[in-house]
Amino acid sequence: TQFADLGLAEPVLRAITAAGYETPTPIQAKAIPTLLEGRDLIGIAQTGTGKTAAFVLPLLTRLAQANERPNPRNCRALILAPTRELAAQIDDSIRDYAKFMKLTHCVVVGGVKPRPQIKRLEGGVDILVATPGRLLDHVSTGALRLDGVKTVILDEADQMMDLGFMPAIRQIMSKLRKTRQTMLFSATMPAQIRKLASDFLDNPAEVSV
Ligand code: AMP
Repeated sequence: TQFADLGLAEPVLRAITAAGYETPTPIQAKAIPTLLEGRDLIGIAQTGTGKTAAFVLPLLTRLAQANERPNPRNCRALILAPTRELAAQIDDSIRDYAKFMKLTHCVVVGGVKPRPQIKRLEGGVDILVATPGRLLDHVSTGALRLDGVKTVILDEADQMMDLGFMPAIRQIMSKLRKTRQTMLFSATMPAQIRKLASDFLDNPAEVSV
């Protein structure tokens, strides 16, 4: 499989070429066509498999196709990650893969002042990368609404669970609109993650690498 055969948007393909990627990794080859159809997905994959690009590249393509603007204090896509380091890495990847597109993205994590984050959220963002606790703080103060979220990605779900984020994740998921695309990535699939998936994903495809 070649990247050009996967159905990705042209500026996304250009960014991949600029990054020096030649062929899709197995999780990318399996997940990208499914995600471009809008299907929910469970991805069982470790870090280092190319899983970030597996969800970011189709996300960027679908955001470009929908061609909408985010509403103030809202976002079009939400990515939840266990740590601020991983959130920052995902945001770096988005910056790289979206460099030929006009999309806004930002990071909302704990341990830093909330005020600059609130400022960034005011105008709305296309893609928000967040840790669950700080995200809920912004929702409870009204700095962020979640009713515009059409795509949600849970990255390293097992790590989020181990850090005690399961109640926060469930609270966030229950605030989202029903018509959305949901992806869950996890290195392992313990019973609680299976239950999370069956509660919040709709007929998901499953990809394991
Ligand atoms: P991840 O598993 O998402 O943490 O990605 C691991 C590393 O692989 C990152 O440094 C990516 O830049 C790189 N990478 C992802 N996809 C590809 C690809 N198709 N070809 C070459 N490198 C890639």
